[in-house]
Amino acid sequence: MLSHDHKKCINKSINLAHKIANSKAAKLTPQRLQVLRILLAGHKALGAYDILEIMREQQSEGQSRPQPPTVYRALEFLLNLNLIHKVESQNSYYACMIEKDVNEQHLAQAFICDNCGNVEEKIAETGARNLYEKADSFGFKIEHVIMECRGICASCQLV
Ligand SMILES: [Zn+2]
Ligand SMILES: [Zn+2]
Ligand SMILES: [Zn+2]
Repeated sequence: MLSHDHKKCINKSINLAHKIANSKAAKLTPQRLQVLRILLAGHKALGAYDILEIMREQQSEGQSRPQPPTVYRALEFLLNLNLIHKVESQNSYYACMIEKDVNEQHLAQAFICDNCGNVEEKIAETGARNLYEKADSFGFKIEHVIMECRGICASCQLV
């Protein structure tokens, strides 16, 4: 299913996360980093409670048990830095897969496999431009666009 060097993929994302956080004087605390690492472990979207479960599994003895607000705050932080995206139709989150510059904004388009849960992210270039032009034509100012496609991924179609 993962037809690429995923270790490299994780390292690259973690490095970028540090760079982006530094450039915005935002603090990538151990817990925020842990949430990002959990999402980076696979290219799948996870719900906040799935993440919380994993955090609790990973916790070492003597550490205080992570609580839901911790996860939500970490997710909020990572969302603001564009390091993760939310799948609105599932109320879940996945780590951004786009190679980007520190200050680059992008409109993410998510292709979510209903069979294996894999998420493929692409930048929505032309589709987005059309949307913005259309909105412009009647004076609408877009602030938030959700682009989610549900279906069956290439590897699941082979089975
Ligand atoms: Zn990967
Ligand atoms: Zn992204
Ligand atoms: Zn699939």
